[in-house]
Amino acid sequence: MVVERTLSIIKPDAVARNLIGTIVKVFEDNDIKVQAMLMKKLSQKEAQSFYIEHKERPFYGSLVAYMTSGPVVLMVLEGNNAVERNRKIMGATNPAHAEEGTIRKMYAESLERNSVHGSDSPTSAQREINFFFPNL
Ligand code: ATP
Ligand code: MG
Repeated sequence: MVVERTLSIIKPDAVARNLIGTIVKVFEDNDIKVQAMLMKKLSQKEAQSFYIEHKERPFYGSLVAYMTSGPVVLMVLEGNNAVERNRKIMGATNPAHAEEGTIRKMYAESLERNSVHGSDSPTSAQREINFFFPNL
């Protein structure tokens, strides 16, 4: 077991529906610690460059508009195998394909409005933590 850090975002759809506490509790109940937390409304520039890997995808413009539509909660999570475990706890990108009990199965509204983000590898985690928490 390796203690890892990963970046989690509670997305605007979940913040708008008062799910911050509910989602944080899922992580805490899974022995994942919140190491840093910041609530903010992302700028267009921040959302564009955070999701730069998807720049050529047809959903990029819509994704950036959605991610800047309201405040998000940015978190650094820490725990054993936190990157992979967080992805499991979140469930599949499309809630229609997510397993029972996962955050996206329980709370996501659609493929785009899917309530949470989680880094997809230790390399992405490092980049994403540094992107939002450069002093950590
Ligand atoms: P995230 O990066 O947010 O953790 P993910 O890694 O599961 O999600 P990605 O493929 O990186 O999924 O897509 C980033 C985000 O873009 C998704 O979480 C979702 O909000 C949105 N998205 C992905 N695919 C589509 C699509 N086909 N149509 C609309 N939105 C999409
Ligand atoms: Mg992703």
